[in-house]
Amino acid sequence: MASQEQQKYDVVIVGAGMAGMYMLHKLRGQGMRAIVIEAGSDVGGTWYWNRYPGCRCDVPSVEYSFSFSKELEQEWNWTEIMAAQPEILEYVNHVADRFDLRRDMVFNSRVSAASFDEDAKHWTVTTEQGESYTADFCVMATGCLSMPNKPEFPGADRFKGEVYHTGMWPKEAVDFAGKRVAVIGSGSSGVQAIPVIAEQAGEVIAIQRSPVYTFPANNRKLEDGYMDLAKADYATIREQQRNSQTGIIYYSPRRPKPEGAVPGKPKRRPSKTILELTPEQRKQEIRDFGFNVLSQYVDVHTDPEANEIACELYRETLRELVKDPAVADQLAPKNYPIGCKRPVIDTDYYLAFNRPNVRLVDLRETGPIEEITETGLRTQNGAHIEFDMLVYATGFDAMTGALKRMDITGRGGRKLVEKWEDGPRTYLGLQISGFPNMFTITGPGSPSVLSNVIVSIEQHVDWIADCLSYLRGHDLHVIEAEEQAESDWVAHVNEVAKGTMFTAPTCNSWYLGSNIPGKPRIFMPYVAGVHTYRQKCDEIAADGYRGFALAG
Ligand code: NAP
Repeated sequence: MASQEQQKYDVVIVGAGMAGMYMLHKLRGQGMRAIVIEAGSDVGGTWYWNRYPGCRCDVPSVEYSFSFSKELEQEWNWTEIMAAQPEILEYVNHVADRFDLRRDMVFNSRVSAASFDEDAKHWTVTTEQGESYTADFCVMATGCLSMPNKPEFPGADRFKGEVYHTGMWPKEAVDFAGKRVAVIGSGSSGVQAIPVIAEQAGEVIAIQRSPVYTFPANNRKLEDGYMDLAKADYATIREQQRNSQTGIIYYSPRRPKPEGAVPGKPKRRPSKTILELTPEQRKQEIRDFGFNVLSQYVDVHTDPEANEIACELYRETLRELVKDPAVADQLAPKNYPIGCKRPVIDTDYYLAFNRPNVRLVDLRETGPIEEITETGLRTQNGAHIEFDMLVYATGFDAMTGALKRMDITGRGGRKLVEKWEDGPRTYLGLQISGFPNMFTITGPGSPSVLSNVIVSIEQHVDWIADCLSYLRGHDLHVIEAEEQAESDWVAHVNEVAKGTMFTAPTCNSWYLGSNIPGKPRIFMPYVAGVHTYRQKCDEIAADGYRGFALAG
């Protein structure tokens, strides 16, 4: 490692996922000296850690890619509509190589603490490995879903078989052949992993606490010529993404019609609302457009009556897919609305339960997991379930977990964990009052997890880089969110989430922190969309960084 003297930087960036990578590249371009500290042994963040079977992105690959380099856009070819984890990791590695990012990155170093020195006006970041780095600014590029949640079941260390967590999957191949594999969790990770593990394992035992609404990915290989058309359209794609609600436009290339082609009958569009349809028409629309149509009706997201109709239709359709009516009933989500949780996108999840080697354990019937034993687990009703391998697909301490696990100390010795005791408070999800010169990329209070995160990352990185350049240009050295601006922003974030399915009283989701025992129930992301949010950030910057205190 570099000598102590060399370890002083303009900016220290925590995390070498896509956010940290682009932040480094951007700052280098501005002539700033930056260093990235990363716990893993290489770049990739989410795509480095989540290597479980079936892992793939739920945003179209062409749109889930960096826009900052036209050359990069033109040289990279995706192979599927929604890319699988190995392909995304390959892309991320290509970006790291292409822009020579690793020379300013330190791997296998987990940041344990960061503290602001008010006199020196700099941050000191220290790692579990004993290194320390000082910098004028600190950027937390620590990701929203990067702190795995592993419930503490009594007896967990007694289990004699192999144990994995989807969010910390090993690089080496895992051999499922002939094994009985228990998977705890039926969120996005479990839903993706179960059908793929079932193809290899002797038996899969899916241990489900809450059934999910899951929608088919309809993934496929990109047909010949797709990438050429996408490359020609990239400028428009990016523009439309930035001006959209979620940063996803579901791009489809417009192909020239073959010569002499007779125009076909135009495809009917699904109705805008579910309430305007008769029961028969609703069924017809599901037959015509598939399961996904249910989340496309606008009233499903705003009107509880419309939502309940959609939920009932969902359950009916599910019963047609799963052969065993008792299993179909166990898989059917009830008592919470569609749109409350992050939509799960699957490939043949329900069909996996028609396989003879897949069994469902419904914890709503057996009672919660009481303990892990040497050979399996015991549920509250006394039943003992035996298996050889245990996979935790139990998610993450989302949005705040990665930040709170570090000992972050701001002005006046104030700890972030204390400040956030009742839930996260930020200004724009970019800064935290009391923690000068520290920025968070896709922090709580920004669209982050409600958006195509690459679009949000690029917007945050560009905003932070512009801000640092402004400070330099005006001979300013300190920027800190004002307490009042932060309070107003928190109130605004709560206000716009009111009346949506995200905050319905029956909703329990990781957006609200309800998956972590004791975590305050606060809706953390900003629902108004990436376009509105970008406008607000830009206006604030144009207004001399309104709501931020700037000092020399
Ligand atoms: P998750 O959605 O939080 O799901 C965790 C699962 O574990 C839930 O079914 C949960 O049940 C269960 N669980 C947690 N604690 C439990 C306990 N003590 N006993 C029994 N069951 C327990 O986590 P995830 O599946 O990893 O997904 C998290 C997010 O990551 C997704 O929403 C998505 O944003 C992202 N992700 C995306 C993709 C993709 O792009 N397709 C893939 C994977 C992940 P409850 O529901 O009852 O809490």
